[in-house]
Amino acid sequence: MHDDATLTVGRASRALKERILPAVHAASIPFDVAAHELPGEPIPPTKGLQLEFQAYEVGTPWGPPWGTTWFRLRGTVPQHWAGRQVELVVDLGFDVSRTGFQCEALIYRPDGTPLKAVNPQNQHAVLVEEAAGGEEIELFLEAAANPEIHGSRGFIPTYEGDVLTAHREPLYVTRRMDLALFEEDTHELALDIEVLLDLAQQLPEGRRRHRILQALDDALDVLDLQDIPGTAAAARAELTEVLASPSGASAHTISAVGHAHIDSAWLWPVRETIRKVARTTTSMAELIDRTEDFVYGMSSAQQYAWIKEHRPEVWERIREAVAAGRFLPLGGMWVESDVVMPTGEAIVRQFSQGQRFFEREFGVRCRGVWLPDSFGYSPALPQLMVRAGFDWFFTQKISWNQVNKFPHHTFEWEGIDGSRILSHFPPMDTYNSELSGEELAKATAKFRESRRASGSIAPVGYGDGGGGTTREMVGRAQRLADLEGSPTVRWEHPDQFYDRARDEVPEPPVWVGELYLEIHRATLTSQHKTKQGNRRSEHLLMEAELWASTAAVGAGTEYPYDELDELWQMTLLHQFHDILPGTSIAWVHREAQETYEHIRARTERIIHDALTALVGTGDVPVEANPTPFSADGLPAHGASPVPEVGSDAVRLTETKDGGFELRNALVSVTITPEGHVSSAVDLASGRECVAPGREAGVLQLHQDFPNKWDAWDVDRFYRNRVTELREASSLSAEVTEAGGAVVTVDRSFSASTLQQRLILEPDSRVLRFEQSTDWQETEKFLKASFPLDVRAEHTAAETQFGFHRRVTHSNTSWEAAKFETSMHRFVLAEEPGFGVALVNDSIYGYDVTRDVVDADVTTTVRLSLLRAPRFPDPETDQGVQTHVYGMVIGAGVAEATRAGIEMNMPRRRLQGSQGFAPLVRCEGEGLVVSAVKLAEDRSGDLVVRVYEALGRRAEGTITVNAPVAGVREVSLIEDDLTDVGTFAPVRLRPFEVRTLRFSLG
Ligand SMILES: [Zn+2]
Repeated sequence: MHDDATLTVGRASRALKERILPAVHAASIPFDVAAHELPGEPIPPTKGLQLEFQAYEVGTPWGPPWGTTWFRLRGTVPQHWAGRQVELVVDLGFDVSRTGFQCEALIYRPDGTPLKAVNPQNQHAVLVEEAAGGEEIELFLEAAANPEIHGSRGFIPTYEGDVLTAHREPLYVTRRMDLALFEEDTHELALDIEVLLDLAQQLPEGRRRHRILQALDDALDVLDLQDIPGTAAAARAELTEVLASPSGASAHTISAVGHAHIDSAWLWPVRETIRKVARTTTSMAELIDRTEDFVYGMSSAQQYAWIKEHRPEVWERIREAVAAGRFLPLGGMWVESDVVMPTGEAIVRQFSQGQRFFEREFGVRCRGVWLPDSFGYSPALPQLMVRAGFDWFFTQKISWNQVNKFPHHTFEWEGIDGSRILSHFPPMDTYNSELSGEELAKATAKFRESRRASGSIAPVGYGDGGGGTTREMVGRAQRLADLEGSPTVRWEHPDQFYDRARDEVPEPPVWVGELYLEIHRATLTSQHKTKQGNRRSEHLLMEAELWASTAAVGAGTEYPYDELDELWQMTLLHQFHDILPGTSIAWVHREAQETYEHIRARTERIIHDALTALVGTGDVPVEANPTPFSADGLPAHGASPVPEVGSDAVRLTETKDGGFELRNALVSVTITPEGHVSSAVDLASGRECVAPGREAGVLQLHQDFPNKWDAWDVDRFYRNRVTELREASSLSAEVTEAGGAVVTVDRSFSASTLQQRLILEPDSRVLRFEQSTDWQETEKFLKASFPLDVRAEHTAAETQFGFHRRVTHSNTSWEAAKFETSMHRFVLAEEPGFGVALVNDSIYGYDVTRDVVDADVTTTVRLSLLRAPRFPDPETDQGVQTHVYGMVIGAGVAEATRAGIEMNMPRRRLQGSQGFAPLVRCEGEGLVVSAVKLAEDRSGDLVVRVYEALGRRAEGTITVNAPVAGVREVSLIEDDLTDVGTFAPVRLRPFEVRTLRFSLG
């Protein structure tokens, strides 16, 4: 016979889109609509229901950017609709080609009960399942006119990303606000056709495909396009047989979980996320009520906490659905944070704050870490996940790699210490699945572990204001549960998927080391003040816990549990994977600065109060040392009176060419008249740090205009065009009161100016750079270059509780793709016997290159200081920016670790009557204490966390300066593990992190 396949597909597609889908709500009558446009920020729904409303005509513009309009809808169900399902249909002016990212509304009953949200791809709400006829209906819509920042516009700079700079003209025009009759058979027919049409287009030539195409033709022959509701049932009957044909024994299994990836702030401010979550969760609670087996998973304790605080009426619906086992808390973290930049303690708190919330509110713990969208994954994570009690990890972001395809979907991921965790990347490469035929076919065809494993995960639903899973997706899943030629789909908790995967793949493939994301590399640098705020907040909080616990045990003061929880939670929220990476709109980063200032002021007060209680009142100058390293008679984690006799001052001399030489007992540094470092010598070994003929500390300015994703991406070609900022407009030097020497350099370039202060202190091997830049650049990347006379095969860059090595060459595509990489407080370039480290107070990105002259290999490390992307914040990083960084002249990992911590936790000077002994004393090479705090359960027990920092085996002791009744080892989130007696000799494997809990008294 003739091949009519194309004709059938075209026929079914057009009939579906143009006739059948519109007929689902064929009969409708417009509501009487009135509106109230709020002049400013959103108000609680209880107040919204009591507003004065003005008559509003559907079809008129509404909603300036970021505005809220409350609509009141009134209507009467016609008598002849008695016995039928009546729905609300609303089109606020949606762009249906996009799933979210625009206007949305939450619908309320007059008593304040939230009913459901309306979104671009989800425009209905069920009002009455079986109408009596004549019902008076009144509804309220809280509609948000969120502007679309990204989308059809691409990456064009826009000022709509802040309410302070956005225009005030209405953005949207409503199209429909109707009371409508729901045609159930038509709805079901649409789903039947859609699923079969999708499947037929994915199937290979063969009888199954042809049977489906024939059935579609038969159904469409029966359907009267002038009376679709009246003939839909008959048309469906023609499809029954092909829909009933079961899947085979080898079908791929899709483990579906309802989902909405809601970024905790991104192209909207935090306050709008709260409403996005309220809308989506209301719809999901509604969908759960209306379905049998559908389950919805939501991560981020913070998002639950927002609803509890701001939308109690929605919170009740979530609680009920969680209790019924249908609404699944996922991930066990406070937010889906970035996991490359946060310090080790912060990752621990993401877990402990998240799990404590879920346990307190719902009595559940999460078994897996759920991070579909974060921009790369540090190799410290496997240990931290395992030691926090998790047994699985989920992401899909690595599918975004620009160059290399990741080789596994179900595998074990091994971290720097050797811990392994079962991990899964969904082969359909999305966390917003619609269960489309294309996605299902991709999952089947691409799944790498098919030889042993039966299936993969699909997070199903629209995120970011798309409203989550739709009833259409649930309808599709129902048809796909057991359908010949298709993967089978079942709703289930991801825990069940991982349990099955563990059985099916007992020896999974292993990936060792970081999961580097080969895109979005500039997220290590964009929005510098946000990164600086994060680094300061983390270290101030660690210090506040140290002194507050020392004062609580030693001086009987109150430990500020609530305040520390609150301040940690604020810090953790801002580690969200679009805030800390610097990829949100201006509004988010403006508010982040305010929050970080708030955290700073409050942690400084906690620190001041605790230290004052410990040193007493008096006029003796006392120095407190918050670092875990003792120095100059000053104990680690303790305080001493400042010694009267200082160290020998740094010798400062002017060189013949107008530069300066700075020299102390350890190092000698030569600064050129342009303010660059031409020599830095470790006096003990006589080793020069600066590569022959080169200068260190030179600032390099690159053009930086990536192909897309401006705040996220730096493309490799940025290196091809560079300007060195060599000229100094002034150079001067002086010796400070404390005996240090400072060389001050001023520079200007295009419209920007900057000042660098190069500082050498007595008894220090760190040449410190304090830089203040008035940054007025567009699409530029500023780097500080350190060409080092070191033949380094690797760099060692600090990560959480340790470091990781990366090779300095680019032999393979995997290595070449890592042209911009991450660090925490240090990066070290080392050859056997000698190394140089670069430390910093707020920098996260660096790059490294090898230079060879006459077979002499040198290593150039460059710190990434500032960028100037224009999307999504057109003014990114404009204005005054400060950095502190330093070159550690002659360093191994131990010196680098120490110098990095010291730069981020400076000693404090205060006045009192005495110093004080440390509460906790830790001895043993390579052991570093990262936390001294009181236990989360508020029992008054002392918690000490220690890690091995050098990548070697270590042994030592921890002693507590208070009567100890017992010591237990606990997990990272302070669950009991083992009783280790009254003493705690600690033996740690390389990079091992251990947490000890001391009962006092
Ligand atoms: Zn995201």
